[in-house]
Amino acid sequence: MSSKLHVYNTITRKKEEFVPANPPFVGMYVCGPTVYGDAHLGHARSAITFDIVFRYLKHLGFKVRYVRNITDVGHLENDADHGEDKIAKKARLEQLEPMEVVQYYKDRYHKDMDALNNNRPSIEPQASGHIIEQIAMTENLLANGFAYVSNGSVYFDVEKYSASHHYGKLSGRKIEDLQSNSRDLEGQGEKRSQLDFALWKKASPEHIMRWPSPWSDGFPGWHIECSVMSSKYLGNSFDIHGGGLDLLFPHHECEIAQSVGANGVEPVRYWLHNNMITLNGQKMAKSLGNTIMLHEFFSGNNTLLEQAYDPLTIRFFILQAHYRSTLDFSNEALIAAQKGYSKLKTAIAVAKELSLNWNSDSLEVANKIAAWSDELADAMNDDMNTALTIATLFEMSSYINGLKNGQEKLIPSKSEFEQITQLFVAYFEEVLGLGSEANGNQSAEILNDVMDVLLELRSSAKQNKDYSTADAIRDKLKAIGVTIMDGKDGADWQVD
Ligand code: ZN
Repeated sequence: MSSKLHVYNTITRKKEEFVPANPPFVGMYVCGPTVYGDAHLGHARSAITFDIVFRYLKHLGFKVRYVRNITDVGHLENDADHGEDKIAKKARLEQLEPMEVVQYYKDRYHKDMDALNNNRPSIEPQASGHIIEQIAMTENLLANGFAYVSNGSVYFDVEKYSASHHYGKLSGRKIEDLQSNSRDLEGQGEKRSQLDFALWKKASPEHIMRWPSPWSDGFPGWHIECSVMSSKYLGNSFDIHGGGLDLLFPHHECEIAQSVGANGVEPVRYWLHNNMITLNGQKMAKSLGNTIMLHEFFSGNNTLLEQAYDPLTIRFFILQAHYRSTLDFSNEALIAAQKGYSKLKTAIAVAKELSLNWNSDSLEVANKIAAWSDELADAMNDDMNTALTIATLFEMSSYINGLKNGQEKLIPSKSEFEQITQLFVAYFEEVLGLGSEANGNQSAEILNDVMDVLLELRSSAKQNKDYSTADAIRDKLKAIGVTIMDGKDGADWQVD
């Protein structure tokens, strides 16, 4: 008997059994990227973490609606309430339309996430497409007395809200501490308290991204989009809200306050947060010059990198740690991940082709399979502990390799071995998404197969002394950038 899924709920600070409000349906909202630059390792960790949640819930039979937003307006520099919009700034520097910046980086984000074998979300709403809803929720908050208008901008009234609700319950902060810790900020003159945050901002004359509203021509605050888009697509109360730990405060804390203030119900049942990635023990930040973009990992084109890494090696590296632990990147760690990943891939390839003098069914093998099956389920059910799941896959791969090289004495029956292979594939490919069904890899595999066919045709043409066909295959491949190298063990090929 395997266990039931438990997840660590940030808001209750404990592991709880996961029970959706309306099984088999699960609503999951994850804060996506602000698309003003390329995705880095931190983006990869968050996307992979919630891709695993999405995959595992589906594996358990749930029907998941996975919403992940694209922030394309209202996210100001330094995550502040004033200053330039991150996207507008990029547009100004590059002399582009803001929406050109958005499209460009959104496409690149998708390319990187596809390469990492992340499923696309069920719905991917953009903040700029939900201005009307953001205005409506702001009106709602004004009507409920949790917001006020000041000089054409609208702010959430944190003190008013705190009189009847606990602002800070997600991050474990106390309103008194927040009040005494808040420091002077430019633009605070409009706010009643420094803790208040913008729901709507009046645009300064030079601000390009602006929309009409009852209060001013302006733009929404950063936090309101997620309250609006989650409730629009998942309802006022939904099952899972995810994001990086860096979004816990103030972003997610503000989301709760807005949603409760506007809709009168707790928006989220389970809050899940993934931890950060450090680089050689240091926080990654643009200002420290130590951020590595994902496409640089894939190409190796960054002085901090010793080599290029396959996107699935990056995925494997991230999954080797539990999502709530910190994870330190180094070349050594990635090279070790590459070796480990390759060992598991080899085991799958061996398993799919292994042929032995099979035994008949035995209780010993049946127990072994049952134990692995429980171990894998228990690991994933324990707050999606992918590190433990991978450890069991390594055990299974040793058994498979032992059978192949004759060192393993416990020989299974053919059907038992098929069960072992199926179990391995279910977790390696379906749950962890580490299989070669990954987008880019699939075409690489097809290319390999196609080249095998062509080389075989060429070799038989040669045997039949049909040298003109053999040469035509070689020359036409050369023309499209594939070189055939004839050797004493047959021909090999490479892409130029
Ligand atoms: Zn968000």
